[in-house]
Amino acid sequence: MIRFLLFLLTMCQISLSAEVLDIGIYRTDKIKQAVVAPSIGSYEVFGDGKKLADVFPNDGIRVYEAGGKVGVRSIQNDFGNFSKVVFVRKNWGNVFRIRPTQPAVREGKYNDNLVVTISGGHLKLINRVYLEHYVGGVVEAESGSKQNIEYYKLQSIVCRTYALNNLRRHEDEGFHLCDQVHCQVYHGTSRFTELIPEAVSATKGQVVVDSNIDLVTAAFHSNCGGQTIPAEHVWSKQVPYLQSVRDTFCLEGKHARWETRIPRQKWVQYMRTRHGAGRMGGHGSLDFNEADQREVYYASSDSEIHLKEIRRDWNLKSTFFRIEEDEQDVLILGRGFGHGVGMCQEGAMRMSEIGYSHADIIHFYYKDVHIIDLSVLDFFREH
Ligand SMILES: [Zn+2]
Ligand SMILES: [Zn+2]
Repeated sequence: MIRFLLFLLTMCQISLSAEVLDIGIYRTDKIKQAVVAPSIGSYEVFGDGKKLADVFPNDGIRVYEAGGKVGVRSIQNDFGNFSKVVFVRKNWGNVFRIRPTQPAVREGKYNDNLVVTISGGHLKLINRVYLEHYVGGVVEAESGSKQNIEYYKLQSIVCRTYALNNLRRHEDEGFHLCDQVHCQVYHGTSRFTELIPEAVSATKGQVVVDSNIDLVTAAFHSNCGGQTIPAEHVWSKQVPYLQSVRDTFCLEGKHARWETRIPRQKWVQYMRTRHGAGRMGGHGSLDFNEADQREVYYASSDSEIHLKEIRRDWNLKSTFFRIEEDEQDVLILGRGFGHGVGMCQEGAMRMSEIGYSHADIIHFYYKDVHIIDLSVLDFFREH
């Protein structure tokens, strides 16, 4: 009997973590005070588990840091100070607005619930949000409002997979994911095109798994420049489904090409001091591959330098480049934007425009993977 109850409890935790996410919002803004109000529908507000008030669209509730607690006020009432304040939606589909006033930063609109506590002398704000609402917000933040529905379906599956595969990233801070590029960019509910909610619900619960039925690391980047790179070249870890793919779809993309100039002396100095490449001054030693094929190392005459180090040190858009020089400068001619692993967004956008389905695109960038429903995944985990 106990085993059965434990089993049930485990099942509940899994399905809960799969459907409701805690997202740390406004983390880097160190908010001391904000006004929260319903935007769609009405809310209830609780302080340490006790109901304080019903909140309607024209009511604003002020929450603020008050000596290590969360102070709660409306225009008429001072509700007092609490360790934990929760705004709970009364109906499915409700949205709240939050307007930070100290400091005054962008107003956000979020689906579902809000949890407010104090951490490090400021408000710790957590959007407790249904997975599919979160996915819609991320898809909009990551790909804008100008794409077609097939692309949004693809991005929904990829962002959902990425989120569920990274639920432990902020475990010690008490939430699942942050709202920055560190996890996935999320600025609240999607609101600029109807196609996003449509795509999210058409792919509801769908995720990408590998041949062991484990969620994949659904890496993506802006533009690969014509060839994606295998995971081991960037993260020193081989991942069977993240291989190098030749991609002609992104060659006309916005970020297909870039160039940057570096004064020749500065470059030579950098090579000498940083990499001990003593003979970098000579002409021939600066030759680099023709960039038809991506390389991992910059092969100088003296040493091999990992291209990702050069990218980091000079803040370059990618590790896919060749070098030309004249008397004054070193000219770096580059391709693509981002780490180059996994799905190339601009290639995927083009593929969706010319008629490839979201599933075709996923199989093009991720090798030997399957698109399955989350309920099946829970089934596999439990048995
Ligand atoms: Zn994060
Ligand atoms: Zn590409």
